[in-house]
Amino acid sequence: MITLALSKGRIFDDSLPLLKAAGIEVLEDPEKSRKLIIGTTRPDVRVVLVRATDVPTYVEHGGADLGVAGLDVLLEHGGGLYRPLDLNIAKCRMSVATRADFDYAAAVKQGSRIRVATKYTHAAREFFATKGVHVDLIKLYGSMELAPLTGLADAIVDLVSTGSTLRANHLVEVEKIMDISSRLVVNPASLKLKREPLRALIDAFESAIQP
Ligand code: ATP
Ligand code: MG
Repeated sequence: MITLALSKGRIFDDSLPLLKAAGIEVLEDPEKSRKLIIGTTRPDVRVVLVRATDVPTYVEHGGADLGVAGLDVLLEHGGGLYRPLDLNIAKCRMSVATRADFDYAAAVKQGSRIRVATKYTHAAREFFATKGVHVDLIKLYGSMELAPLTGLADAIVDLVSTGSTLRANHLVEVEKIMDISSRLVVNPASLKLKREPLRALIDAFESAIQP
């Protein structure tokens, strides 16, 4: 049995065409069913539905043989996983955003300490350290946009796609940190034990990636 870990929502939706290209269709719609384990048209392949941030944990510890996770999630998780493919799905960017009335460029130039709220503390620490900017990082688990509006922080590091959430909260994107997409991650032990079927699956995904 091959177990693929996916999260509900955009990663699941964007993975369906890749699965289909590999000749695999899921037998249940996760938005309609409450099942957490979904069978597929391939009797030896099943999908487990987990939180996006839990995908690397499942794959690293063998709860799943492979999974699809955002680069943002993988950077916070750390190593321990084989990452053979950029699937080019669930694309967005990780950026710094502030209130429109906060002069980010001046704060950076003056070497001021900037209070930054984010879910992505590893990526943010590394980015600001490389830039030589002093930051106090404040770890949040959601609704980052609220932090500058309430005075909790001067800036946030968050994912942006269209920018409409930032605009709705009167925030402006002041610097892009990196482009984000989702990656296929594989458990290294599974790759040894189930080499043939996993290789075939990885190759099928690879041929189906859209530029
Ligand atoms: P939850 O919404 O359950 O709290 P989550 O925010 O981690 O968890 P999703 O919103 O499904 O889960 O995001 C999954 C992945 O999709 C993220 O890790 C990121 O790589 C990518 N992503 C997040 N936001 C966007 C976006 N606005 N546009 C495109 N891709 C995104
Ligand atoms: Mg989300």
